[in-house]
Amino acid sequence: MTLYDDIAYLKGVGPSRAKILASEAGIHTFADMLDYLPFRYVDRSRLSSVASLREDENFVVLKGLVSNMQTVATGKFRERLTVDFYDNTGTLQLVWFAGTKWVRERLNPNVEYLVMGHPTLYNGQWQISHPEIEPYSYVDEGSRHPLMPVYSTTEKMKQHGLGTKAMARLTETLVDNLPPIPENLPPEIINHFRLMGRHEAMVAIHYPDSRQQLDAARTRLKFEELFFLQLDYQYAHQQRTLRSQGRVFTHVGDNFNTFYKQLPFPLTGAQKRVVKEIREDMRSGRQMNRLVQGDVGSGKTLVALMCMLLAVDNGSQACLMAPTEILATQHFYTFQRMLEGVGVRVELLTGSLRPAAKKKIKQQLAEGEINLLIGTHALIEDNVQFRDLGLVVIDEQHRFGVEQRSKLWNKSSIPPHILVMTATPIPRTLAMTLYGDLDCSIIDELPPGRHPVRTFHRYERNRPLVFSFLKKEIDAGRQVYIVYPLIEESEKMDLKNLQDGLEMVQSYFPRPQYQTSMVHGRLTAEEKAFEMDRFKQGKTHIMVATTVIEVGVDVPNATVMVIENAERFGLSQLHQLRGRVGRGGDQAYCILMTKDNLGFVSQERIRTMCSTTDGFQIAEADLRLRGPGDIQGLQQSGALDLRLASIVDDEPLVKATRDTVHDLLTSDPSLSRFPLLQEHIANSKNKMLWGKIS
Ligand code: ADP
Ligand code: MG
Repeated sequence: MTLYDDIAYLKGVGPSRAKILASEAGIHTFADMLDYLPFRYVDRSRLSSVASLREDENFVVLKGLVSNMQTVATGKFRERLTVDFYDNTGTLQLVWFAGTKWVRERLNPNVEYLVMGHPTLYNGQWQISHPEIEPYSYVDEGSRHPLMPVYSTTEKMKQHGLGTKAMARLTETLVDNLPPIPENLPPEIINHFRLMGRHEAMVAIHYPDSRQQLDAARTRLKFEELFFLQLDYQYAHQQRTLRSQGRVFTHVGDNFNTFYKQLPFPLTGAQKRVVKEIREDMRSGRQMNRLVQGDVGSGKTLVALMCMLLAVDNGSQACLMAPTEILATQHFYTFQRMLEGVGVRVELLTGSLRPAAKKKIKQQLAEGEINLLIGTHALIEDNVQFRDLGLVVIDEQHRFGVEQRSKLWNKSSIPPHILVMTATPIPRTLAMTLYGDLDCSIIDELPPGRHPVRTFHRYERNRPLVFSFLKKEIDAGRQVYIVYPLIEESEKMDLKNLQDGLEMVQSYFPRPQYQTSMVHGRLTAEEKAFEMDRFKQGKTHIMVATTVIEVGVDVPNATVMVIENAERFGLSQLHQLRGRVGRGGDQAYCILMTKDNLGFVSQERIRTMCSTTDGFQIAEADLRLRGPGDIQGLQQSGALDLRLASIVDDEPLVKATRDTVHDLLTSDPSLSRFPLLQEHIANSKNKMLWGKIS
């Protein structure tokens, strides 16, 4: 037998089950079956009893009998099945909401069962809904294995005799007859990290002799998974860097120098370092693909602008793409202001521009009259032609994927340099995986004189105190933001919410003494800009807004950020919003208003916000609280399609594999000393293609 034989030939499968295995579990070959990993193990020495159940237990295994089956109709076609399950210490209830007929027909009051699942207390009674349930003999038969694998199976699999027990029998047969599985990691690496061999690990992940052996097997397989992910990324990146041509920008000219001289403050050490790293990329003759990370307010935009001026000094054009129109507009005004006295022409191209104006800008862009263009990410979709685009800056918010970046390659014969700025810091493990194809610069220093924003958590009942605090700040000449969440279900409701908020604010801060601005998603770009402008010029004291002001808005005189229903915001959003204040020299405050009863995750978010202003720490906490799947745009990235390894819990492994691959490729770029790895690269042509376009 070989690993690539048809699964139908495995003893106990046959053609009809093979079909089900293929359609339900993607198992076509022996190798696929081996890759179908258990999601849990039953430790026969650790059975629980009904009397000893506790609420903090996630997963228990119980042995007992069933009785008293009852079906209750819960809708025209829906029913609920409840079954009593008892051992000699007590009784609990098993509940099914789907597949009830099938369960009902199979449960037998004379058979001893093993029940596995998550117990919950419901009206004072223990319940397990949709448990795994197998005749107890399952465990008996497997008695030569101390830990029995549990496989996830679908209803359809169960109906065709492919429940957990049957799957375990199949994997057992497979493992007992397994041909040697070739090692795919170089011996140096196996030895250095004392990893379990591949064959042993594949057997042990199904049938471990002990918890320790299981851990070692898991570590080995996670390492392998992360290692090859890193190898794919880094090899592709290296090949591209070696092959790619880049425009050579060696000249530092008038635009850069004039701008630099008229800066009202010195650059921070971190900014200088990053500008230098970028300059080196831009004159290397290879295309730059660089990520600039930095906390809110660390001066990334300024660094980007300086690099754009360098591109202009070398006779080419540059563009900046922002995730939203309001941000693009904001960048445009900032650039215009900062570029006063510098002979550079900057324009804004957005969707809300009139066709005639758009046409004119496009024409002047093609003729090279415009040096810097600012717009939204739609810039790359549009048929925008530059005379000579040399640098693209992408202001990103976990939104801009690898595929989109690749489109930029087609904009000119020698691809432009690419600089990606993150709006908030990215957790280290994520950056290492998701942005493995980019070089990374970090601005890890805030401009001097910034006092960290002080953050407080307050409840509705504290509102009078909060408002009187705002009054004090406003009377001392400062300005205040009050931000409301978007409640996605209905834009109308959002507006209503905001209007109610506005009324409440205005009743406390009466006109004409106090002036209030309001900005929300329903306003046109012009109206928004108008309101923002009034606030910026100090004509209004309070800005009531939905999250449209989330990023980029720069009003140094604003010292307080009140976030209403703060429990509805994600951590990175809260951090972004807080970053809007504390930009001037005065002490700034962030007040998180919430309802009284917060869930665990909201509580943790608020606690994190109150305890740190470090964006990197916040990013890590965010990843931990939400899990990578929930972070915007990450799911479809593919980088996180990890079977075993977790980007949250396996940071040491992520780092170890990243560094190992880096060292390997540095010392041996063609991998000539590592035939196994060369083989992997040759075999994953498809993946490489994907890597190439990143
Ligand atoms: P980011 O894009 O990282 O959020 P910005 O580039 O928008 O940060 O800078 C935030 C604010 O700090 C701006 O008002 C900018 O003019 C100012 N700033 C940037 N660099 C410095 C510096 N080295 N010293 C003082 N202020 C700075
Ligand atoms: Mg910025």
